[in-house]
Amino acid sequence: MDEEQETAAARTSTEMRINPARAKELAENLSAIQSRIAAAAAASSQSGKRIRLVAVSKLKPATDILALHQGPAQHHHFGENYVQELAEKASLLPRSIQWHFIGGLQTNKCASLAQIPNLALVSSLDSTKKADALNKGRGQLLSSLQSENDKSPNEETAVEKLSVHVQINTSSEPEKSGVSPADAADLCRHIRDACPHLHLAGLMTIGALARSQASAASSENNSTPENEDFECLRDSRDAVARALQLDAANNLELSMGMSQDFETAIALGSDEVRVGSTIFGERPARKDAKIV
Ligand SMILES: *Cc1c(COP(=O)(O)O)cnc(C)c1O
Repeated sequence: MDEEQETAAARTSTEMRINPARAKELAENLSAIQSRIAAAAAASSQSGKRIRLVAVSKLKPATDILALHQGPAQHHHFGENYVQELAEKASLLPRSIQWHFIGGLQTNKCASLAQIPNLALVSSLDSTKKADALNKGRGQLLSSLQSENDKSPNEETAVEKLSVHVQINTSSEPEKSGVSPADAADLCRHIRDACPHLHLAGLMTIGALARSQASAASSENNSTPENEDFECLRDSRDAVARALQLDAANNLELSMGMSQDFETAIALGSDEVRVGSTIFGERPARKDAKIV
């Protein structure tokens, strides 16, 4: 740590008091989820596979995130749904956190979102307009950092391309964001060919609640895991890989699975699960949420 980072860390720890009982509870919840992820991977003969756990911290206080990041868990990946909330948390919390934006994306907020330096991945990209706006925002960040770096080189603050997942509305529900499976390849091609500051990392879906409840029941009964949305995302990934001539398994990851259905999602090939309430507990209403 350099001096500046040390002061920032000291500032963070004096401003944010972590309740030890809460920290212990969160660490236990996280570790229980990690064990369930490992067991689900092993059960589907993918024991060696690294599955990323994004801890979804939306509407939860920054102290909860800090407890999991700094404590024995040393967790790095946290997911947020609202741009303003993510920006505030990112400014308060250590730069070593890797933020994931997973919420509904608005074109006019894309540029400011992409300029958060430790934003690692946007999982909810669903239009070429938003891709262009994210690309532009990340490009501006890179060139401003480049000119600062020319003055005082600092490898610690290296910022890269912004990774993105294209969100697919696999359940065709009108209230869900995402492109239709048939439109996925065109958007993916646009990201690859016209957005030099973005990296196409894979595809994401939420899926229908009813299917996720059914899959929770099927995993309790030890029956064969089934979920049409997850199967649809896998098929979409294979179709995109064919259209773009990519190697599907190595080049495009699948982000699918939340608290209710992540074990089924892993059985069906998920590379990233996004788990919120099982780690942090029930969320408050948005108007009652407090950042500190
Ligand atoms: C809120 C949210 C999650 C986490 O949901 P839980 O059911 O609390 O685990 C995952 N993905 C997305 C896109 C979300 O909005």
